[in-house]
Amino acid sequence: MSGNSVRLQAIAAVQRNLTPPAFFPPAEAPGEVFGQNVFTKSVMKQRLPKPIFASLMGTIEHGKPLDPTVADVVASAMKDWAMEKGATHYAHVFYPLTGLTAEKHDSFFEPGSEGTALAEFAGKTLIQGEPDASSFPNGGLRATFEARGYTGWDVTSPAYILENPNGNTLCIPTVFVSMTGEALDHKTPLLRSQQAMAQHAERVLRLFGHAHPDAVVSFAGAEQEYFLVDRGFFMARPDLLNSGRTLFGARPPKGQEFDDHYFGAIPERVLAFMLEAERELFKLGIPAKTRHNEVAPGQFELAPVFERSNVATDHQQLMMVVLKRVAQKHGMECLFHEKPFAGINGSGKHVNFSLGNASEGNLLHPGDTPHDNAQFLVFCAAVIRAVHKHGGLLRASVASATNDHRLGANEAPPAIISIFLGEQLTDVFDQIAKGGATSSKEKGSLTIGVDTLPVLPTDPGDRNRTSPFAFTGNRFEFRAPGAMQSIAGPMVTINTILADSLDFLAGEIERRLGAGLDLDAAVQEVLEDVITNHGAVVFNGDGYTDEWQREAAARGLKNLRTTLDALPELVSDDAIELFGRFGVFSSREMHSRYDVALEHYALSVGVEARLTLKIAGTIVLPAATRYQTELAANVASLRAIGAAAVDTGPLDELSAAIAELRARVADLRDALEHGGDGAVEAHAPHAGRVLLPAMDAVRITADALEGIVADDLWPLPTYQEMLFML
Ligand code: ADP
Ligand code: MG
Repeated sequence: MSGNSVRLQAIAAVQRNLTPPAFFPPAEAPGEVFGQNVFTKSVMKQRLPKPIFASLMGTIEHGKPLDPTVADVVASAMKDWAMEKGATHYAHVFYPLTGLTAEKHDSFFEPGSEGTALAEFAGKTLIQGEPDASSFPNGGLRATFEARGYTGWDVTSPAYILENPNGNTLCIPTVFVSMTGEALDHKTPLLRSQQAMAQHAERVLRLFGHAHPDAVVSFAGAEQEYFLVDRGFFMARPDLLNSGRTLFGARPPKGQEFDDHYFGAIPERVLAFMLEAERELFKLGIPAKTRHNEVAPGQFELAPVFERSNVATDHQQLMMVVLKRVAQKHGMECLFHEKPFAGINGSGKHVNFSLGNASEGNLLHPGDTPHDNAQFLVFCAAVIRAVHKHGGLLRASVASATNDHRLGANEAPPAIISIFLGEQLTDVFDQIAKGGATSSKEKGSLTIGVDTLPVLPTDPGDRNRTSPFAFTGNRFEFRAPGAMQSIAGPMVTINTILADSLDFLAGEIERRLGAGLDLDAAVQEVLEDVITNHGAVVFNGDGYTDEWQREAAARGLKNLRTTLDALPELVSDDAIELFGRFGVFSSREMHSRYDVALEHYALSVGVEARLTLKIAGTIVLPAATRYQTELAANVASLRAIGAAAVDTGPLDELSAAIAELRARVADLRDALEHGGDGAVEAHAPHAGRVLLPAMDAVRITADALEGIVADDLWPLPTYQEMLFML
């Protein structure tokens, strides 16, 4: 096939796919399938002897150490349950530093005597696995000759069944560590940071009179944005297929300027996909709740209800897998890249978080009169101080080659990490700074002017879409994480910097109480101190303006624009001290994460650069030269018949553009051949500062050609087609 025939075939196929296959109403209501494939607490309660169940709940609910003697009983119950559900295999599921999910599958069946097969699953197999781990990134923590890695059962995240038409698998969420106990994954530090945060949050609660506080946990709810494109187009775009984003493509005549997609009616085909995906998520106990169209054409969002951050993180990973799989079934590809289409809004994964416990509920709930809710104010102040002191670490936690295309592009929060508090809380903290808070601005109400419509209560603070870290009524929303990334990194950072601030605040209050101050006076002094020293991080204005860039600099806030600027934060003395103090990362682990992230950055840019070269050389240039031949033949034949005025303008313009593209391709090839060797500290900056601009230069000329070359010769599906044909 040549020219645009692949494109045309893809377009024809979309026509056929627009009406989704007939949807057979499933037998059970969504409520009935919820958690159907999960080894839930109620399943455990039914199947485990009482003392075993109680012991396990002590660990899950109250953070008590896991009693290894329960493992055999749990394993056997889990195996029976899984086999009743058609499972033949089990897998330890872990989350290596690739950011993906890894699984090691084993069969339940072991050969018995006389050719029989016995179903075996012992406690020790549940607790520990040993995948050959030599190919996972470890940043120098393991030499390949000591390739051992261990997976360890995470009791706090429920096991589940993954269905496949050819047999089901019992999946057990696990941590993944090296032989020496160093973390090789995203879960281990998340659990460590959660424990550190809980310890100091409970200390604060004790100061407020809760002598024996229930275990505090952090909660996360992640809003996942994604694009859908028809799979025919996807397969005809080697750039999308291999790097997740379009490295070429002129802007469509109509983009998102009318904002006509946002919250618009969901196309039937997409809705069919969403319904099936949500059903699959429900079976896995993932509470998918809100769905809507996003800003860009072809862009959508799915938000599950918040859960404990550890479970939410696992579910978030699983959700991406499910969305991709179901989309493929519906002839579409689900794109999680942060910026699949240049000039069109990118995708993020807003992480909403809060902390709380069984008896106190959400500790970030301000109540109607936050000014006299001292306990809330202390937790809120802890967040303010944490974000101000460690904004650089938060920035580093969302740094990646792919997210660089989105952050700071006037559609996503800027790289400057500031906090939006809203009118009411800003006012309360202003009062505190002046000596004490005595009032809270009240909730208003909206009168719409139609008697039959209800009066709508308004929140005391508006929303702000431009802030990277916004208070949204009873939680904070970290808006900078990228659509593709695991939310573990951001949650590890949030938990750890909160542990630091809660530790500090508890210490300061304790000291003043010791010196004879009463609790109110001590809290006022400490809050005043925090808002005076850290209030600079509060910004309620428009984060997209240039003015904010200048003002943030004057306030001393960091502006780490790219991954290359942000990653060194991970190995600063302060960061290593901080993570070490709370037992979240050793210095070696921090260095290993830094190396892995830098390496990953260099690798992804490298792949894109080679793809750019290949597509320009073997797809774009051949199409352009074919058209050049056509134009040249046209000029020659016009001359041959002695036409009066032969306009060589189009041919000249095209030839100049082709020459330009050849030159830019040569530059990129040269850049790829030189400077990419040696230590990652050298080739990552080369990737960012030399390869990326060279790729952009190729793209600009290739995109110009797209506007010149005859459409019937253009081989790559266009932006118009990919974005609007769903
Ligand atoms: P919006 O787009 O208006 O920000 P969504 O409803 O799309 O809101 O998503 C909000 C997310 O925040 C959901 O995942 C929701 O479960 C989560 N969330 C709500 N309350 C809390 C809370 N207390 N702690 C953590 N996450 C929360
Ligand atoms: Mg939302």
